[in-house]
Amino acid sequence: MLIGIPKEIKVHEYRVGLTPAGVHELINQGHQVLVEQFAGMGVGYVDDDYAKVGASVVGTAEEVYLNSEMIIKVKEPQPRECNMLSEGQLLFAYLHLAADQQQTEALMRSGCTALAFETVTSPSGGLPLLAPMSEVAGRMSIQAGAHCLEKAQGGRGILLGGVPGVLPAKVVVLGGGVVGENAARMALGLGAQVTIIDRSIPRLKQLDAQFGGCLQTLYSTQDNIENAVLAADLIIGAVLIPGAAAPKLVTCDMVSAMKPGTVMVDVAIDQGGCFETSRPTTHQEPVYEVDHVVHYCVANMPGAVARTSALALENATLPYVLALATKGWQQAL
Ligand code: NAD
Repeated sequence: MLIGIPKEIKVHEYRVGLTPAGVHELINQGHQVLVEQFAGMGVGYVDDDYAKVGASVVGTAEEVYLNSEMIIKVKEPQPRECNMLSEGQLLFAYLHLAADQQQTEALMRSGCTALAFETVTSPSGGLPLLAPMSEVAGRMSIQAGAHCLEKAQGGRGILLGGVPGVLPAKVVVLGGGVVGENAARMALGLGAQVTIIDRSIPRLKQLDAQFGGCLQTLYSTQDNIENAVLAADLIIGAVLIPGAAAPKLVTCDMVSAMKPGTVMVDVAIDQGGCFETSRPTTHQEPVYEVDHVVHYCVANMPGAVARTSALALENATLPYVLALATKGWQQAL
């Protein structure tokens, strides 16, 4: 199959659909790959890296779209890109169509077959192409939170791990799924005292078994949440109800009763956020304060670590890309 990798054009999107290593796998299996020039630049790959593994590097997106049977990219196609897609072509990327009528109609007009990363479901019901970004965001949430706890950032001036003779910070993670587990792992690694709150007892049992006595688990009730967040230095919002807006687990009243300089990182902001005081922020201006509580609510956290994210995404997508290229989508699904 002839596979095309265009350069991403969405604002501040630095990732790339496939790295040279992924392209090499396709070429080893007898496929041909067209890569738009500078496609991998944002994550540290130059055109020559692609050429060395056997890809053809072309000068424009038009050449990629015109000649490829399958397009692999990261973000949903922008209007200009939708216009270049054509009948019979296969598109494999994040699409997030539910909230984007314009793109949905443009894709339908193009006649292409579009397969959304976020809808690929594993036999156990998991979402394998969303999970890597949750891993990244979960781990980043502690990095971001630790930085915000510094005095100069508006935080309480607390070091997550403390030092001998001084207690560590208290970290509360709301939601013990992929984001929550990864946040807990990082916070524990830095020596913080960590509590995970979830409404699923089987999940809390799993986390308890996994982390042993290092981690405290708590069932999700309003009282438990209130007591935990009022005592916390850093709160991570990581709940998800699939297909629904995030529940507002931390109320305005709780926020106004928190210690000044408490930090809240709302990873669930892409689903509306799980704190009543949350509103989406960007990497340019990631934080704001409400009642002297620092809020970090960046909706595309993995974008800040584009290289790690691109590699993690490729690890997850590549088996599907290879299956689609080899069998065609009708057989691969
Ligand atoms: P997940 O499904 O793996 O985990 C969600 C957890 O929330 C589950 O364990 C569930 O039991 C728990 N939960 C649901 N309702 C709850 C409640 N009332 N109280 C306590 N726990 C509750 O989801 P995930 O992959 O960890 O993703 C979490 C959120 O992070 C999602 O909204 C996802 O879109 C978002 N996310 C954001 C970014 C970003 O850049 N901001 C990046 C990746 C993921």
